[in-house]
Amino acid sequence: MSENKHYVRPLGRQLVRPPLARAVQQIYRERLRQNAKWPGQQHPPAEWHLILSEEMGELAQAILRESFPEDDRHGDSSVKTELIHVAAVAFQWLERIEEAEHDAIH
Ligand SMILES: [Mg+2]
Repeated sequence: MSENKHYVRPLGRQLVRPPLARAVQQIYRERLRQNAKWPGQQHPPAEWHLILSEEMGELAQAILRESFPEDDRHGDSSVKTELIHVAAVAFQWLERIEEAEHDAIH
């Protein structure tokens, strides 16, 4: 059997609008970056929540930075970048839940 038996096409051949495709691509790229930096992350829910909260804090800083560009106390990241981080962490947490459910069945 092929190695590809573990892979699926979740959206089949469904067309999606370019903004959604770009958003998903950016989140997926961030997921790959996070996997390379922290391979095989497994955390209890409270730790996932802390990681997500840390990213939410960075998002808040980016909002402040973009709302008050004359104030240089709020880091150098953008709202878009931090939204991608938040989404990628939330996505990874959900993946771990899906993996646990999958492993429990198979
Ligand atoms: Mg971040």
